[in-house]
Amino acid sequence: MIYLDNAATTKPCAEAIAGSAYAMTHAFGNPSSLHKLGIRAEELVEFSKEKIAAALGGLSREIIFTSGATEANNLALFGLSGVYGRRRRKIVTTAVEHPSVAEPAKKLREQGFEVVFVSPGADGNIGEDDLVGAVDENTCLVSAMYVNNETGHILPIEGAFARIKKLYPECILHTDCVQAFMKLPFKAKSLGADAISLSAHKIHGPKGVGALWLKNGLRISPQLLGGGQQNGLRSGTEAVPLIYSFGKTVEAMSKTLPERLAHAEDIAEYCRKRLSEIGAAINSPEEGSPYIISASVGGLKSETLLHFLEQQEIYVSSGSACSRGKKSGVLKAFGLPDAVSDSTVRISTSVSTTREDIDALASGIDSALKTLVKIKR
Ligand code: PLP
Repeated sequence: MIYLDNAATTKPCAEAIAGSAYAMTHAFGNPSSLHKLGIRAEELVEFSKEKIAAALGGLSREIIFTSGATEANNLALFGLSGVYGRRRRKIVTTAVEHPSVAEPAKKLREQGFEVVFVSPGADGNIGEDDLVGAVDENTCLVSAMYVNNETGHILPIEGAFARIKKLYPECILHTDCVQAFMKLPFKAKSLGADAISLSAHKIHGPKGVGALWLKNGLRISPQLLGGGQQNGLRSGTEAVPLIYSFGKTVEAMSKTLPERLAHAEDIAEYCRKRLSEIGAAINSPEEGSPYIISASVGGLKSETLLHFLEQQEIYVSSGSACSRGKKSGVLKAFGLPDAVSDSTVRISTSVSTTREDIDALASGIDSALKTLVKIKR
């Protein structure tokens, strides 16, 4: 099997699997219980908070566990606008966000906020000046992702956030770092962010757990009310096995980040070369994330190609996994004409991807080109 869909999800690492089994076996108590078993479970939650906070250069009390990045993004948009958007009624985001940011942003617009979706400029990426220029003294929140999940574009948030903070210190800056965390080296401070969304299953951890890092001192309006867990910010019994597994994953991945990044760069370069040789057009910028390569293949419909490759046990994605065959608005926003985005596949790699895997992919695409009927234009 050749798995090239790591931006959709990753294979859990040994540490993740052992971590969840350990927690279920040895610490099945409720972390809110006052007895020994509860305290043991609470310790595992604390362990993970510390590991994730350390990876971001933050404090453990700044971590709020959620069911994934979708919930973390919802919490950030609704929760931060709920506190900071009472008088300042404008939100700035981008036209290339994951739906878990874009949909809450649209909902907030329906609720009366002015929401600006900044589009990519002539160079194909979101412009730093455009992002900064969209913000004014009426803006309570900016939400811009770090790495785009469909193309691997790296958005210029470091520069933009620093400039926005200087101009408008009260504006809250959120970033979805799902496709960057444990893949590219960064710290909360280096990004200049106030809130960061993370997901475990994109970094070889378990599905169903994520986190929102919220800078110390900031307030957020909780979106889940109930027993008051996590300092009242996210009620619900903590998913201890998933949370501990997340922490163990981050502990393991932190140690290997530089080697994994170097490997991804090598594979990306090779993949670009091999795909170009067979006539595929690469949509991802060279300076983007090396873990994601979006390519359009000579008029072949993405889904047809995907299933053709699947028969050879090569797994890629058509655009974004979340869009499930729906036309990707994000690829359009990045300036891809419909005919190109209709024939786009996303290849997303991990440390296990080899050059031989890329050779197999290239020859699979090559035989697809020779075998399959092309899209009628
Ligand atoms: N944000 C980005 C950039 C993503 O790629 C994804 C997953 O596809 C999400 C958010 C949602 O993450 P989760 O699956 O943890 O809800």
